[in-house]
Amino acid sequence: MDKKFSKKFIEEQKQRLIKDRQKSLSQIEILKTEDPFSDPEHASDNAAIDTDVREQMGHEAIEAQIKDLQKKINDIDNVLKKIQKNQYGLCERCKKNIPQARLKLIPEALYCVECEKTLRK
Ligand SMILES: [Zn+2]
Repeated sequence: MDKKFSKKFIEEQKQRLIKDRQKSLSQIEILKTEDPFSDPEHASDNAAIDTDVREQMGHEAIEAQIKDLQKKINDIDNVLKKIQKNQYGLCERCKKNIPQARLKLIPEALYCVECEKTLRK
């Protein structure tokens, strides 16, 4: 069962990935400006302790979100490379086709559901 995806489908996915990549990049920029630690006044202010704690939490939440977005961009880059090599939709681990429905849901998926589960254990 070696069903290839249609060119149209791959092209659509490619456009989605490029858009998602740009969106993620601009989200990172927005998050960076929201990070309380990026405020140049931060180091010198003598804010109350509870403010500092809140800032610390905000900083960590933002850092985590940026990390997630960077991982997504990284995945998208890998997938775009696969499209170039004509290997879009091939699971990185078992080399089987990833179901089209899954790719529609997660265009940057690098693994089939089975392998993803195994890798997460
Ligand atoms: Zn697999």
